[in-house]
Amino acid sequence: RAKEQGKNSLKLYHTGINIQTYRAFILQNDLRKAIERDELSLYYQPRLNLETGSIDSVEALVRWNHPHWGLILPSEFIPIAEETGLIVNMSDWVMRTACVQIRQWKATKQATLSRLRVSINFSAQQFMQRDFFDKLEALQQDTGANPEDIEIEITEYTLFGGNPDILSKLSILRDIGISISIDDFGAGYSSLNCLMNFPKDTLKIDKSIIQRLSDKSSDSITMVSAIITLAGSMNMSVIAEGVENGEQLQILQRIGCKAIQGYLFCPPVPPEELEHFIQNYDQPDQANQTYIAAHMTGL
Ligand code: C2E
Ligand code: MG
Ligand code: MG
Ligand code: MG
Repeated sequence: RAKEQGKNSLKLYHTGINIQTYRAFILQNDLRKAIERDELSLYYQPRLNLETGSIDSVEALVRWNHPHWGLILPSEFIPIAEETGLIVNMSDWVMRTACVQIRQWKATKQATLSRLRVSINFSAQQFMQRDFFDKLEALQQDTGANPEDIEIEITEYTLFGGNPDILSKLSILRDIGISISIDDFGAGYSSLNCLMNFPKDTLKIDKSIIQRLSDKSSDSITMVSAIITLAGSMNMSVIAEGVENGEQLQILQRIGCKAIQGYLFCPPVPPEELEHFIQNYDQPDQANQTYIAAHMTGL
């Protein structure tokens, strides 16, 4: 304890700024060069379709391998990228990398990989670019990725990030064939408002709600059931995020949730590892629900 406190209050000699501020400062500088130095990578986390037992899509999650600090998670550098505007370049890199990856997987003979859709997290600033659609079109031409194979994830925060024409941009994206997920649903404050006003295909229930699911907490079960019913009546699909244990999975199955994503099934992994995971998972006769349940509770 004392040691921990000592660490947190570590001051840089003479400057009086603490180590976190120092690190944020360094990261901000290094982030400018991270893309050209090839330090970013995309990890992928598969979702499990509980009805069919198949993997239909994966979420792309950016990682930064810093030469000095090692692997850094987006919770630390995305806020810095947003503040400095570097998020626009970074997002271009993410989109391009994901589209190239989609094409590579399409070209394989492996059934699941060749049908895989990739879901990409979007930031509010991406929508503010004037050349947003030009870039998208160029990307499609360069990489040959189909809009049908792309999903984008936006949060309530993104939606209310102060961009007046986001609504029309989302509608255009959807007309092109890209599907739209509302990420972290239930974590924010105006969930119902965003359900009414925005084009969308999928609701991702936030992990903070899923993590409260247990038979001892009937309120959280009632809430997730209600979200599933609501989504169904609006023709939307649902993904439960952050499923970490068998109890959560069983409750979700019982209340009719049809897709999950979480450490229980598979953490985010580099592309080669995902390919390996899918090849092992996709053995004939194994992709059925009984197998999945037994397989997952055994983890
Ligand atoms: P998100 O879009 O809600 O992504 C899900 C996060 O939950 C990921 O964190 C994932 O690693 C984590 N996760 C998955 N399964 C579990 C689980 O069972 N338990 C727990 N506790 N966590 C789980 P990650 O990769 O650190 O990303 C954090 C956030 O950063 C993302 O949240 C997303 O908002 C943002 N982000 C990630 N990649 C990008 C990107 O390429 N662009 C933008 N704009 N944002 C990104
Ligand atoms: Mg997401
Ligand atoms: Mg989320
Ligand atoms: Mg998020």
